[in-house]
Amino acid sequence: MGVDLKRIRHVVLDLDGTIYLSGRLFSWTLPFFDALHDLEIGYTFLTNNSSLGRRDYVESLRSKGLNADVRNVHTSGQATIDFLQRHRPELRRLFLLGTDRLAAEFIEAGFDLCGSEADGESHAGGEPDAVVVAFDPALDFARLCKAAYWLERGKPFLATHPDFVCPTDRPTVLIDCGSVCACLAAATGRTPEAVIGKPDKRMLEGLLCRENLEPREVAVVGDRLYTDIALARETGAVAVLVASGETTAEAARQSEFRPDYILRDVGELGELLRRAQC
Ligand SMILES: [Mg+2]
Repeated sequence: MGVDLKRIRHVVLDLDGTIYLSGRLFSWTLPFFDALHDLEIGYTFLTNNSSLGRRDYVESLRSKGLNADVRNVHTSGQATIDFLQRHRPELRRLFLLGTDRLAAEFIEAGFDLCGSEADGESHAGGEPDAVVVAFDPALDFARLCKAAYWLERGKPFLATHPDFVCPTDRPTVLIDCGSVCACLAAATGRTPEAVIGKPDKRMLEGLLCRENLEPREVAVVGDRLYTDIALARETGAVAVLVASGETTAEAARQSEFRPDYILRDVGELGELLRRAQC
């Protein structure tokens, strides 16, 4: 504890368990954003879920009364686009295991995507430079097989995020990106050369650059130690654990991830920021 909050210019916010729970805003969330506004502190909503586009999140956040624009939303899909553009610009043509919404974001960013044809004999849509795996609730078996085919032929392998399952209240298990990568690894012996989402620091690299921020000017705020707090640690940002979600303050105190701040909720963070910056 005790890292100076005075220098914070931007907060990076996890969603579930941090600003809302099961889609319902906490009563202290809107006052927290009022504090950010008054203090001229910027904010970004951060999610590992690469099945939705940034505009989907903007719509959902606005419907809850939050002020959000595409610039305020950063998904692991966007972070993967940033990574490819910055570090692997030669990979332009991708075989993407992902949703249409994510595909649209890659196309908008200038990538070519191999066709969705589940071809057997031919390579409809041409040969990719790389295979990118994301979270796709409509995952198609033939395309999964085709991804394995390209991996067997040595194409670079990237994953948007490491999560094995996506939390759900429904009576099912939502197989997420990490599990699909494990399946492909079993089939081909290949593992991704980069897994971009939280807790990997590449999740924030493009964002920090776009917003012209030093890591120490940023607070990463979340309710999970092994993703949110680990990301802050990896990045060198201020790590703020809020006990409004899956982690208790006691568990956070005993954790190896060592948050800089263990707070009740973002409401308390708003108060601390006001006090530090007034
Ligand atoms: Mg969370």
